Amino acid sequence: MKIALIAHDKKKSQMIELAIKYKDVLARHQLWATGTTGTLVMGETGLKITRMKSGPLGGDQQIGSMIADGMLDLVIFLRDPLTAQPHEPDVSALLRLCDVQNIPLATNQKSAEIILERLKEGTL
Ligand code: PGA
Repeated sequence: MKIALIAHDKKKSQMIELAIKYKDVLARHQLWATGTTGTLVMGETGLKITRMKSGPLGGDQQIGSMIADGMLDLVIFLRDPLTAQPHEPDVSALLRLCDVQNIPLATNQKSAEIILERLKEGTL
């Protein structure tokens, strides 16, 4: 599967936790991430990840473009709903495209765990 990982700043520690917990599962798939999320997750897990630009600098749009082109199968986007984001339009566009393309999308840690458990079992 082709999986994108994105986390807003206050959710990056949760993303690292998830990536460590599901490292073996994630390692069996192709991974993309926005810049800072990718750098942190790679640093903590050693997973191989293709990094796009940082989210506020266009990374969300790059991931969105991949979704529009049917190049991703799953998006884990740990959003921070309590902090205003300078690139909110890009965030909304990415989420919208997941719905347009019917791509599984987890926007919080618990949902991500449920999906990653399914991936682990091979039933996604
Ligand atoms: P980042 O981008 O991984 O480069 O921090 C995430 C985002 O804010 O969309």
